[in-house]
Amino acid sequence: MIKAIVKEPGQILHAKALPVPGLTPDIERLIAEMIETMHAANGVGLAANQVGSDLDILVASPDGQRGKEIVLLNARLSERGGKDRSPEGCLSVPGVSAEVTRAARVTASGLDRRGKPVTLKAQGLLAKILQHETDHLQGRLFFERLGFWRRGNLLRQYRQTESLLSRVEIPPEAKE
Ligand SMILES: [Zn+2]
Repeated sequence: MIKAIVKEPGQILHAKALPVPGLTPDIERLIAEMIETMHAANGVGLAANQVGSDLDILVASPDGQRGKEIVLLNARLSERGGKDRSPEGCLSVPGVSAEVTRAARVTASGLDRRGKPVTLKAQGLLAKILQHETDHLQGRLFFERLGFWRRGNLLRQYRQTESLLSRVEIPPEAKE
């Protein structure tokens, strides 16, 4: 089932995720739904709070290939190296993007979708996704990585885009 994606300023986007205590059928279903939702939205990564769950789960698909998704539960990053600056957007903040500086390489440890401990070294797009999604799970959105003025501009642009979209979606008769 494809889940609805929570949009900024949704409260759960600003809350810290809770550790996954272990795999259950419900959690396995949530992981499958997160993967489906990410692909349906043409996303390359998704964190559980973006679909309304408070669990520490992320999924990533840097190449968009089905069946090759990366799933990490309780992910922690270490060994950040280098710097990389590139445009970034977010499914929870649709319609806007900004250049964000991130580490070029990271090591991520956590549990895989079978609940087994896993460590992976990432660079390029995957390194960027892992940083973006672990930020989400700490209750932090990508624009919080921007300076004061750029963050203000981006949010202003986002609010304008959102209000235009919601105006388009409401048929005239429903306004009464
Ligand atoms: Zn995001």
